[in-house]
Amino acid sequence: MQFETRAIRVGQDPDPATGAVIVPIYATTNFERPSVEHGEGYEYSRVANPTRTAAEQCLASLENAKYCFLFASGMAAETAVLGVLRPGDHILCTRDVYGGTISLMKQFAPQRGIQVSYVDMRSPDCVREAILPHTRLMWLESPTNPLTYVHDIPTLVQIAKERGVLTVMDNTFASPYLQNPLDWGVDIVLHSVTKYLGGHSDVLGGAVVFNRDDLHEPLWDQQAIGGGVLSPFESWLLLRGMKTLALRMRQHCHNAQRIAEHLEQHPKVKRVLYPGLPSHPQHELAKRLMRGFGGMLAIYIEGGREEANRFCTSLRLFTLASSLGGVESLVGYPITMSHGSLSPDEQAERGLTENLIRLSVGIEHADDLIEDLEQALAQI
Ligand SMILES: *Cc1c(COP(=O)(O)O)cnc(C)c1O
Repeated sequence: MQFETRAIRVGQDPDPATGAVIVPIYATTNFERPSVEHGEGYEYSRVANPTRTAAEQCLASLENAKYCFLFASGMAAETAVLGVLRPGDHILCTRDVYGGTISLMKQFAPQRGIQVSYVDMRSPDCVREAILPHTRLMWLESPTNPLTYVHDIPTLVQIAKERGVLTVMDNTFASPYLQNPLDWGVDIVLHSVTKYLGGHSDVLGGAVVFNRDDLHEPLWDQQAIGGGVLSPFESWLLLRGMKTLALRMRQHCHNAQRIAEHLEQHPKVKRVLYPGLPSHPQHELAKRLMRGFGGMLAIYIEGGREEANRFCTSLRLFTLASSLGGVESLVGYPITMSHGSLSPDEQAERGLTENLIRLSVGIEHADDLIEDLEQALAQI
């Protein structure tokens, strides 16, 4: 079955109890047992809930995976992955990574006796050298937030496998419509379903998706015992969002490409980073790995903080707000928003400067979005 069909059908047969075409929101914490013996089926909604199960089956299918566990947020899913490590383990993390992941590495990893180091994963040779004897996990992201660097994941996975290192990849930016990292041998795919999968900026959630049977029990423990689960209502919203993921992603890609090409010619824009532009440093790699280039782009404008503020607040269709991946366009200022928790040194090291702006391009008409960007650039 093709992606579009799986998004609408998998896990979503009409309800056996009533024939309801849409998976119901099973707003119940507990389920009657047939006997006092340990029963089959549902027992308690922290452990499993039918609405959540439907969404898990659907997302597993979209990532070509056997298993999916849904969590109350992307960060809860990340914490679950951290939970499979032990004191003394080392994480090798991509330097360019979501700001919340850096906070997790900074605050939770040391508490658990886990050591973390960062490496620029654009260079597989640097990655090879950075693996330590006790490296247990390689943390990957591609395209990265906010600079849209694309990493050679199949090569990085091969390096990890040679050294017996587990790989986890945050696939939030691309969504399963544009790439399926498990097909490249990645062990665990992570999503903030808050973004493209939900797609309408109204559900907060996270997922871990994987094939390996030996990871099932440790990750199941993280969900069922850890308890940071996605609620039935949120699971239902996610199911609804995933049905249109393919349609939305095609429009996100189309609009972002047009905007990137337009801004690249603009005198007040110094540089545009979008994997779909031939000028992007990993454009060829992106073409090889991805089925489209996504809806996220980063721009360096002329000027500094003041110009950036004027640009961001002059936009009318792009809302100045955190998050990404919704149908509506958003503008973000990484140094005070997505990466605001980093020190000035950590920001500088990653190329996060005062004139850097991140756009989450929505699915409005591209002409309207371009007109809006034009008028806001005229203000700086
Ligand atoms: C938003 C985001 C997260 C965190 O997800 P939440 O749902 O906000 O907890 C993790 N990774 C990436 C790439 C994100 O954009």
